[in-house]
Amino acid sequence: MSSLEERDVGVAAPGSSASGGLGLGVGLGVGAAGAALEAAAAAAGAAAAAAAAMQEEAAAAIRRDGPDADPDEPPKKRARLPEGEAGKLEERLYSVLCCTVCLDLPKASVYQCTNGHLMCAGCFIHLLADSRLKEEQATCPNCRCEISKNLCCRNLAVEKAVSELPADCPFCLKHFPRSGLDRHQKDECQDRVTQCKYKRIGCPWQGPFHELPAHEGECSHPTKTGTELMGILGEMDQSHRRDMQLYNSIFGLLCYEKIGFTEVQFRPYRTDDFITRLYYETPRFTVLNQTWVLKARVNDSERNPNLSCKRTLSFQLILKSKVPEHETNTKLEVNSPLECSFLLLKGPYDDVRIKPVIHHHAFSNDTNETEYVLLPISDSVECNKLLAAKNINLRLFIFQIQK
Ligand SMILES: [Zn+2]
Ligand SMILES: [Zn+2]
Ligand SMILES: [Zn+2]
Ligand SMILES: [Zn+2]
Repeated sequence: MSSLEERDVGVAAPGSSASGGLGLGVGLGVGAAGAALEAAAAAAGAAAAAAAAMQEEAAAAIRRDGPDADPDEPPKKRARLPEGEAGKLEERLYSVLCCTVCLDLPKASVYQCTNGHLMCAGCFIHLLADSRLKEEQATCPNCRCEISKNLCCRNLAVEKAVSELPADCPFCLKHFPRSGLDRHQKDECQDRVTQCKYKRIGCPWQGPFHELPAHEGECSHPTKTGTELMGILGEMDQSHRRDMQLYNSIFGLLCYEKIGFTEVQFRPYRTDDFITRLYYETPRFTVLNQTWVLKARVNDSERNPNLSCKRTLSFQLILKSKVPEHETNTKLEVNSPLECSFLLLKGPYDDVRIKPVIHHHAFSNDTNETEYVLLPISDSVECNKLLAAKNINLRLFIFQIQK
């Protein structure tokens, strides 16, 4: 038994030493940038392929429709690009115009490196912020050229092209150019969610716009008695008072001496348990000179969240750095906990609707994780919107309570 093992090792050693060394070198080289590069390479590949396909099709179109087109020419080009293989034009444009970092279609400004690689505003700012934290020069994840606010410029053509690409209306599911979708959703869609005009006196009805006239015709609220209305208005006053309390506490927190905030990007992961679960984690970030991580999970990691139509996301804040030691007057070194309030809000480049909720936790070296708390989004529809996106971008505020 032992001699067999020895022989195995002996045979394996000479050959594997070289390849082992090489493997290690490659592993180290790819390291942290690996995932980004891989994604970028995939994007670049897809973009190049789509661009080539477009050029070919354009050439074919010119050949077909141009003055010199030979009507008897066999449809070679079209045969080489069947509809199913090349995909629809907008699908191909999607991979040409998407951000090379997050691979999403940019929602706002688009920036490009000096070699023309596109980055959405969110990713661009994220790269610049990361480099600031690491005290390094920021570089384009595709070509490693230097990037900065001065070196990169916006690409208006791409921004306009993206705004012309079709997007689905979430209410009626029809396609519209992105640029016109806002107006359609707000003012024109017959299926958009509306509320009864007697909401001010307590009617809770909400439904699709095309049902509104029928409801308002039979709404019972305008015929309620004064006494009934007084009761309804009292309840409404109370909920208004609760809102005001929340905002007042936020204004209170904003007066603290030590406040930090940052953009956080939750990225999806899957556990490799027997049943894989989707969860989210942010890269480490620094706020108030401490290193933190946020984690999020779907339906509090229930076994099969895909079986229920109610969706929730909950998150926890984890302090990764050690709580600093303080000397007290008795010369004993004590870790006094880092007491913080924190709250998550919508980030600058995303349109998540989040209700502000303030959480508190005293972080010490033993209690460096908060409980999982619900991400305060309006409903399951909003939650699914987040799950459907590639990443979830939010802004985190941490307020340090000092005594
Ligand atoms: Zn991006
Ligand atoms: Zn580049
Ligand atoms: Zn619509
Ligand atoms: Zn009503």
